[in-house]
Amino acid sequence: MKKKSSLTARVMVGLVAGILIGLAVNRMDPGFLRDQLLVGGLFNFMGQIFLRLIMMLVPPLVAVSIANGVAGMNDIGKLGRVGARTLVYYALTTLVSCMIGLALGLFFKPGAGLDLASLQASAPQVAANTSAARNVWDTLLQLVPTNPFNALSTGNMLQIIVFSLFIGVGIAVLGEKTRRLAGALNELNDVLMHLIGVVMELAPYGVFGFMARTMGSLGFNALLPLARYVGVFYLGLALWGVFVAGGLLASHGLSPFTYLRKFGKVMALSFSTASSNATLPLNMAVTTEQLGASGRIAAFTLPLGATVNMNGTALMQGVAALFVAQIYGVTLLPSQLFFVVLTATLSAVGTAGVPGAGTVMLSMVLASVGLPLEGVGLVFAVDRIIDMGRTTANITGDSICTLLICKAEGEFNKEVFLSAEKPLE
Ligand code: ASP
Repeated sequence: MKKKSSLTARVMVGLVAGILIGLAVNRMDPGFLRDQLLVGGLFNFMGQIFLRLIMMLVPPLVAVSIANGVAGMNDIGKLGRVGARTLVYYALTTLVSCMIGLALGLFFKPGAGLDLASLQASAPQVAANTSAARNVWDTLLQLVPTNPFNALSTGNMLQIIVFSLFIGVGIAVLGEKTRRLAGALNELNDVLMHLIGVVMELAPYGVFGFMARTMGSLGFNALLPLARYVGVFYLGLALWGVFVAGGLLASHGLSPFTYLRKFGKVMALSFSTASSNATLPLNMAVTTEQLGASGRIAAFTLPLGATVNMNGTALMQGVAALFVAQIYGVTLLPSQLFFVVLTATLSAVGTAGVPGAGTVMLSMVLASVGLPLEGVGLVFAVDRIIDMGRTTANITGDSICTLLICKAEGEFNKEVFLSAEKPLE
């Protein structure tokens, strides 16, 4: 029997084929065949059907895996410790990522000398959203759902996390009395994890569909006026990859190459879907089954990370704030740069793990230093290209922090990390 190639290899083929075919289709004459049959039809369908299958699993997966993980913890104090560690890791990496973006923006000046009028003419009108800058009390209040079923049905990740934590603690505290419920949760968790493996068999086709649609509708030309912005952002992402992601792994004795070999497929998925939420199930499966993280810890840190830990988004906001300032000829003072770091970090936390959310939140950063909110519209034309990269950094940051927390808690399985790539269960 012919041996099936690894999921990573198949997803990569889907990614590259999607880019090439998308670019080729983009060069065809506009019309029914290109726009309705292929880009808006077949390619879109392939991506969307796969996305729907994943999104169908996300709310139950988050709820069940957290409740199951917490229910199985015999040391509830540990939960607080893992929580505190997670927040520190997430906050620090987001802060550093934003500073990388700012430093590169200051150094390369991607917006200097660009013609504002012509950019404005081609920019889509984007409603600036400053309501995101809700006050801190309100944000804290919103963590607690008044109706958990509503949270589940609308996919409100933070509220699902909070509710599931409560259920998990309840089961743990009642112990023997809830033994059957704990067992049922465990089995349901196994079923959901198994279904992820099944749905992921479609990943190569889904990734293909997403890439072909994106490239088929964008092509290269859309990139040209903002090429410097895109270039500086991706340079920042490369530096982040080497120094932050690679540095964190290597300094904890984990080979970045081994990591990449197995995590590549998760990155391909985040790159093509531009959504942390959509990547969450695969991230959970790979980070635990193939990279050696403890399922109990990952069940908590990864859903939380998909919602609050956005390294790539913070980096983008650093570059974008300077880009907009430079286009409008505004020089930001050191105190304003400090505000950019602060608000970019906070708004990255508030960014939902769905496509385009980070750019909408950019208005909060611009508003904090008095930059024109129309600046958001200027970067919108290339947003998808940037979003693909920043989402990839977002979910990679979640996975690496999870590994380090598991290591610190003595719940990291190095043998699994080092072993060859096994199929998902
Ligand atoms: N698309 C990103 C994510 O899902 C969020 C953003 O737009 O920055 O992580």
